[in-house]
Amino acid sequence: MPDLNPISLLSTKTFDIIIAGAGLSGLSLAWYLAEGNYKGNVLLVDNSFAPHNSKTWCFWANHKPFFPEIIYKKWRKSYFAAQDYQSFLYMNEYAYYCIRENDFKEFVLTKLRKKSNFTLLEEGILDIYGSKKKGVLVTKNSDTYVADFIFQSIIQPESSKKEHLKYPLLQHFYGIEIETEDGIFDPNTFVIMDVDHSFDDGYAFMYVLPYDHNRALIEFTVFSENVLPKKEYRKKIRTYIKEKYGFGKKEYKSVRKEFGVIPMDDRPFEPTLDVNIYNLGTMGGLTKASTGYTFTRVQRYSRLLAGSLINGESPQITNPSKNRYRYYDKLLLHILSTSVPESRRVFTHLFKNNSVDEIFTFLNEDTSIVQDLKIMNSVPYMPFFRAIGNNLI
Ligand SMILES: Cc1cc2nc3c(=O)[nH]c(=O)nc-3n(C[C@H](O)[C@H](O)[C@H](O)COP(=O)(O)OP(=O)(O)OC[C@H]3O[C@@H](n4cnc5c(N)ncnc54)[C@H](O)[C@@H]3O)c2cc1C
Repeated sequence: MPDLNPISLLSTKTFDIIIAGAGLSGLSLAWYLAEGNYKGNVLLVDNSFAPHNSKTWCFWANHKPFFPEIIYKKWRKSYFAAQDYQSFLYMNEYAYYCIRENDFKEFVLTKLRKKSNFTLLEEGILDIYGSKKKGVLVTKNSDTYVADFIFQSIIQPESSKKEHLKYPLLQHFYGIEIETEDGIFDPNTFVIMDVDHSFDDGYAFMYVLPYDHNRALIEFTVFSENVLPKKEYRKKIRTYIKEKYGFGKKEYKSVRKEFGVIPMDDRPFEPTLDVNIYNLGTMGGLTKASTGYTFTRVQRYSRLLAGSLINGESPQITNPSKNRYRYYDKLLLHILSTSVPESRRVFTHLFKNNSVDEIFTFLNEDTSIVQDLKIMNSVPYMPFFRAIGNNLI
């Protein structure tokens, strides 16, 4: 890539920081910078700042949740069901929270619009590259912007492309938010997993978020390498609604749809794309490999990163996972990639033999070694021995 000479710098617009992509990770970084009264000039670029409401972000927390002002719904009780085990799971330490994409966007953008050092640019990004001194962003209109650092969540690093992965697994799901005349849902209990034993092309389950007695998001989720045609997810959801709640297609109203594909793979943590270009969010490897959950990790990462920038230090980038958790994730990915029945047995034992608080602490990577051993002791050994055999180096 060309180095910027002083003449080309004159014809470009210069910022201290550019945030390329204003989704979860770009907006989170901007939020923590604004909250900490970062004094530099920040350019935030995205295709669109308009509301979408195509996502709901859920996460669990045993402390005051992130963004308490915009929590849409909170649960302390969940339900797990598999063929040979069903149970309500009560949270004592944690609560499970949900934030809607639109609320988050609006909340962050309202704050940024009040800050004169933040510029929002609604344009497509064509390219991002680093030079010795600056990061360079080129828009689809061929405008050029430079900054000391660019933080990006739109370009996939080479190392996370499918051909470099051992377990290129995806979490893919389609959800329909439905409204019914009568109240049929228990708004205090969300369904964390209702395992689908009739689906064999991946570990599959229903996930249900009841927002009210008569409104819920019902999502069919699969962990496998290939996305399904949309009509297959829809068929599964229709059958589930009929079997579980007794409602036919004409007896409820679809008010929103949600489709997602999240990587659940063994990509390395890749903090930089080029000189002065830093990766954020899913592109940066912040999605937890074995669960697809990203929200909490993005908050933790962005807060530290913003803190270093506010203090005038070089960007603080810390691997979101310790080595041992990355190894555990790999073992589970091996099981999920090789055997659906064993995946079902592992999840069933996990929920049967541990409290949901213990599981959430483990998935947050906040456990001690002793707690790790208790979790490992609670699931069938053989699939893990085979996974270890396949991951000796
Ligand atoms: C439907 C769905 C539901 C999810 N639910 C959860 C959940 O409940 N909990 C959880 O922890 N995780 C969840 N995730 C996973 C993860 O939290 C989200 O994918 C999250 O949005 C990732 O954040 P990001 O910043 O990496 O990417 P994004 O939020 O996708 O942000 C990328 C941004 O870049 C912009 N962009 C892309 N290309 C260009 C371009 N060329 N020019 C300009 N702008 C561009 C896009 O418009 C977008 O705003 C979910 C994912 C999906 C898809």
